[in-house]
This record gives sequence, C-alpha cells and structure tokens, in this order.
Amino acid sequence: MKPFKQILVFLFVCSSVLFAKPTIYILATGGTIAGAGDSEIKSSYSAGAVTVDKLIAAVPAINEIAAIKGEQISSIGSQEMNNQVWLKLSKRVNELLAQKDVDGIVVTHGTDTMEESAYFLHLTVKSKKPVVFVGAMRSGTSMSADGPMNLYNAVNVAINKESAGKGVLVVMNDEIHSAREVTKTLTTSVQTFASPNSGKIGTVFYGNVEYFMQPLKAHTVNSEFDVSKLQSLPRVDILFAHPEDSTVFVEASVNASAKGIIHAGMGNGNLFPSTQDALAKAVKEGVVVVRSSRVTNGATTLEGEVDDKAFGFIAANSLNAQKARVLLMLGLTKTNNPKELQKMFLKY
Ligand code: ASP
Repeated sequence: MKPFKQILVFLFVCSSVLFAKPTIYILATGGTIAGAGDSEIKSSYSAGAVTVDKLIAAVPAINEIAAIKGEQISSIGSQEMNNQVWLKLSKRVNELLAQKDVDGIVVTHGTDTMEESAYFLHLTVKSKKPVVFVGAMRSGTSMSADGPMNLYNAVNVAINKESAGKGVLVVMNDEIHSAREVTKTLTTSVQTFASPNSGKIGTVFYGNVEYFMQPLKAHTVNSEFDVSKLQSLPRVDILFAHPEDSTVFVEASVNASAKGIIHAGMGNGNLFPSTQDALAKAVKEGVVVVRSSRVTNGATTLEGEVDDKAFGFIAANSLNAQKARVLLMLGLTKTNNPKELQKMFLKY
C-alpha cells in the first residue's frame, strides 16, 4: 500500500473507533409506554400492544445518539409481571452486557410494578454497565404522550459515562431514580415516581444528564445473588395489616407453602395481636417472616415496638413491602437462616 493510502486507512479506522456510537439494546416488556387506545382524550387503552420496533421508530432521535437494537421480552401490562419474565429478563441482560460491543440496556416496562422489576435486576445483574428502566403514564395514542421523551431521556442516561456503576436506574418525567429507592406514588399522574427516603439521584432534561448522588447500598457486581441457573423462585406473600385483622391470611399463606411472608404492618411494622401470634407460629413452622410497613416513608426498625428476637421476625429496614418481597425471594435462594437474611436487609 502506498503511504498516502495507508494514512487514509489509518484515519478511517481511528475515526470509526473514536466516533462510533454506543450500542444500546432496548428490551421491551410491555406497559403503557407500548400502549394504544382508540382516542387521544380517553384514558382507556391496552398496555403492551405496540412492538419494540414501533417504539423505536416512534423516537428517531435515539438513532442519532446510539446504535439501537430492539428485543421483545414480553408484551404485558406490568400487573401481569411474574417470576418467569423476571428470570428471562435478568438472564438476557446479563448475556448482553457480557458482550464487549454492548454498552448499555434500556428496559421499557409498565409503571405498576416497575419498582419491583428494576430492584430484581439491581440485585441480579452482574455488570457495571448502565441498565435503565423507562415507562409512560400516557399511552402513545394519548394527547401529550410522555413515552417518547421518557425513552429519549432513558437512552441518553444509558449512554452517559456517569451512569456506570450506579446500579439499575429508573428514568421517568425528567428524573433519574435508583431502583432500590424508587416507588410509584400516584396512580395516574406523569409525576408518579419518587424516592421517598433519599430523593432522586439525578435529572435528565431533553437528554442532558446531571447526577447529584450515588446509591450506596450493595447492588449488581457487589450482590451475592445469581439467577443464571434458576428456573423458579421461592413463593413469598405480602399481607397488609389493618385494625381487626384476621389470621386467615397467615394461615392461607402457610397452607399454600409460602417460604416467606412480608407483613406490611401498621406504623413501624406493628401487628394486630392475633396476627402477631399467627406469624410467630408460622416462623416456628419454618416460614420466614419479615416486618415491613404500609407507611410509604421511613424504615421498619428491628426491636421497635415488636420483640423481634422473641418471635423470630426480621425487620425490612427502609424497603417497602413490595421491594422487601423481591429481596426475600432472592435471599431465600441462598439461605433460610433468619440471622443471615436480616443481614441482607441491612446490606441491600
Ligand atoms: N398498567 C400499566 C402497566 O403497568 C400502567 C403503566 O404502564 O403505566 O403496565
């Protein structure tokens, strides 16, 4: 090759390496972001009706900032979310992120159970590369649909270098939240996601990402949970406390062979007396019982008004009941020793 030609080839190789767009996979699971309805001014629609290719085609701007590839994991409203989809999603994310040429993942998901799926991945993904959950409160056929901007922002978060090592993130309505802290707080508003105990960790405005904080609880590469060989997950039920509570729900869970029960208690995880006795009996029969709270802010503390040592209960710390369920399901794949499980509730 002549020197001039060699220089040209060299420059071409350098520029394709330097200016190559990051590769982002969009894994679609369904939800309102993939929803379609008959009218732009009615709230009725079917979740998950739009395929991943159409979702990507609806936001051409994401192709300018990344090499986008799409995959359909499921097409469900997230109220239909189940263990099989969680396992499939986590395994696929791990497979993709293990590839050198994949830079990050965006998961499109319904908002109803996004917090649980995101936390499941926060604890089971074995990579520092960004994993970003995104959804919408208004379907694509609705007036002022929020999905396109949310998706554009999510891809921007996924390609941002500062997103690496922060665990799984949730991007909605210009905000970035940690999967551990985020929860759905309003049934219908676009400003539904909040992190009541810690606040959002950053913002993303027309694609401009700014972080304020770093999640400090263990996650992803520092998590001990490994679902790569799992085909199923242990059954964990949630019981919601109230005055004049009944023991029938505890008994039903135990009879259905639940391995764990999360009790969404009153205040600091307090229990109606007969429920407390029924749960103490369940512990003696080998069921793991975790006290969480039906209050959305704050922690359920060990040995508050409840003698956890005497009853063999675990305290959920600052995880809400639905997230405590995710951690207990994963914890039970490792041990059913209450002391070990309590440590996990302080660590994750
Ligand atoms: N029910 C829907 C879902 O979670 C709601 C939404 O996506 O906003 O799939």
